Formats: sequence, C-alpha cells, structure tokens
Amino acid sequence: MPSIPFGKPILGEPEQQAVAAVMASGVLAHGPHARAFEDAFAEFTGAPYGVTTGSCTAALHLVYIHLGFGPGDEVIVPAMTHVATAHAVEYVGAKPVFVDAERRTGNIDIEQIENAVTSNTRAISVVHFLGMPVDMEAVNAIARQHGLVVVEDCALALGAYFKQVHAGLWGDVGCFSFYPVKHITTGEGGMVITRSQALADAVRLKRAFGMDKHVGERAVPGLYDILDLGYNYRMGEVQAAMGVEQLKRLPEFLASRKANYETLTAGLKGLVEVELLESSQGHFESSYYCHALVLKNGAAAQRFSLIHELRQRGVGTSIYYPHPVPGLRYYAEKYGFTEGDFPVAARIANASVALPVGPHLRPEDMEFIAAQVKEALVEIRG
Ligand SMILES: *Cc1c(COP(=O)(O)O)cnc(C)c1O
Repeated sequence: MPSIPFGKPILGEPEQQAVAAVMASGVLAHGPHARAFEDAFAEFTGAPYGVTTGSCTAALHLVYIHLGFGPGDEVIVPAMTHVATAHAVEYVGAKPVFVDAERRTGNIDIEQIENAVTSNTRAISVVHFLGMPVDMEAVNAIARQHGLVVVEDCALALGAYFKQVHAGLWGDVGCFSFYPVKHITTGEGGMVITRSQALADAVRLKRAFGMDKHVGERAVPGLYDILDLGYNYRMGEVQAAMGVEQLKRLPEFLASRKANYETLTAGLKGLVEVELLESSQGHFESSYYCHALVLKNGAAAQRFSLIHELRQRGVGTSIYYPHPVPGLRYYAEKYGFTEGDFPVAARIANASVALPVGPHLRPEDMEFIAAQVKEALVEIRG
C-alpha cells in the first residue's frame, strides 16, 4: 500500500551544499544570497524588482504599511483564501471587505467587486486560488475606474501566467510564499515583486528596521541611521541560499505538476459526485497547486468519510480552505458573518477535497489516486 503525502518539499544535495556553504562562511544575514535570490526570482518572473521577506504574510504587511492604509480604509479581499490575505489588512487597522468566490474557479467573483466598492475603498486584493490566475485585466479595469491599488497574493501562484505575464505583475505588487508545501520552499520565506522602484525601495527599507545602510554599505562598521519605523522582516542567508537552488529546479517542478494534474483530471472524468474547478483555459496558465474536487449531491455530506477512506487507502488530502475567512471566529466576532452571504466560498469550504499533484509524485501515482477516489466514492455511497 503506497503512502502518498499531500505535500512534500523536494530538498537534496544542491540545497544541502548551499546551506552548508552559508554556515561555513559565517555570514548568516545581510549577505549576498538574499540579493542573488531576489535577482534570480525577478528574472524568472520577469519582474523589474524582487525583494525577499521573512514570509508572504510579512510581505503583504509591508505593502499595506507602505501604502499608508489605516483605520477608515477598506481593502476588498476574497472570502475564499488563506487568512493571511485578510490579516495583513487588519494589521494596519484597515478593514477587509470580503467578496464571494466564483463557482467556476474559486477565484474572487469579479462581478461582485464593484458592489463592494465604497468611498473608503483603497485597494483590491486578489488571490490566484490554487494557482489558477484571476482575470487581471478585468480587475485592473475596476481598479482604474475607482483609483484603487491592486495587491496580488501569489502564495500559490509561482509559475502562473495570465496572457503570458507572470502572476504578481498585473497588479501593483505580488507577494509570494516559500512555506514548505508551496511550489518552492525556504522553510519560511516570502518575496515581493513589483514594477515600482519606489515600492521595492520602501519594502527594502521597512523590512530591516528602517536602516539607511546595510552591513556591507557602512563606511564605519556599526554606524547607521534609522529613517523610518521599520520591522525585522528579512530573509536570512540560509533560507535565501535554499531558495536559489529551489528556483533552479522550478521549471522541472512545474512540468511535473502540470503532467500530474492532467493525468489526475483524465482519471477523474465522468464522476457524477464530483465537480472539478476549472484550471488553465486559453490565456490562463495555472501553477497547479493541487486538484480540488467539489463534492456534489449526497457526497458533499460525506466528505469526512471520503477523506478518511482515502487516508486508509494511502492517499493524503487537504482542504483549501476550511472556512470562508469571514466565517473564522476572529472575523465573525468582529464583523459578523452569514454563510448565505458567501455561498460559493462556503460550498468550497464545506464540500471540497484537495488532492496532491506535487513534484514528489509521478503520473502513476495520479492513476492510483484516481482509482482510489472512485473506489472510495463507491464505498461511502454504501
Ligand atoms: C500560504 C499562504 C499565505 C501565507 O504565506 P506565509 O509565507 O506562510 O506567510 C498567504 N496567502 C495564501 C493564499 C497562502 O496560500
């Protein structure tokens, strides 16, 4: 019986050697690797600027600090996302205004964005749900009309393109995550990409206390000034060295994800209990984070039985995401919550099962997973 984990970072000799070299050098922060990772990431995505951070959440926080948002300001946030997308808005005292998902992809329902805009709205944040890019032309058109900033949470979108432009470059800024189950990992880590030099400079300043000079730039060791109320949100050299090596393998990881996704899609065709979210159509190229099944009819009520049955059969699963963010207790208590206000997000939260397609797996594993899903559905049907 195989055991297929939902996610598993692929780290080997190249990462081990790179990390060992950083440790041997003794330069663990403020060194050359963070800059090398930024340059390589910018080159891969086609971004003019890349700035490393301690996490995607830190990256989003720094962006909202830079934008100067605070109490009284509103940011439109998808209801179906990781809590970090909304938390970053809360950190600066602004208010997340949630918008439901569209049924076809799970992405923010663009048609509902307009209704959520008020005189206090300052930005639209989007998440490329499970790697399927949002229609950024449509989002940008609304943003331009109302003078709003566009922030892309690209934590699941490394390798996702809309009209041949990488996710994160349609909006004003894109934020990425290198948490262990994402497309590449540095353990913990994040990156900002942008076309704006001013934004990149501000994030650089604010991620490191607001210091005017970094270690290598100081004429007199230890002498610096503080220009701003900055944070300590940097990425260390060990992480950055891992990132450089992981990025070299990204094209191979992405090809493997796509092949796995396609094999699994073919294997799951025609199941009456299952609806598959759409991915990669025409101008939309997904980064294939995972494959989400949305259970239909009676099967939805038996989701946990299906998950349990799959686990017995050696298939690891996950749920993206377990609740619409406005339904999480912190947000529900603060702003109130009615599931009926976010029916599509609630449906995905309550009836979906995420299956793995990561590069730790081969197309044969996908055939196995599809066969197990079919048998498990028969099993739970009883
Ligand atoms: C994982 C994730 C984050 C958080 O990333 P961290 O690097 O752990 O801070 C934010 N947004 C989305 C959509 C995510 O999936």
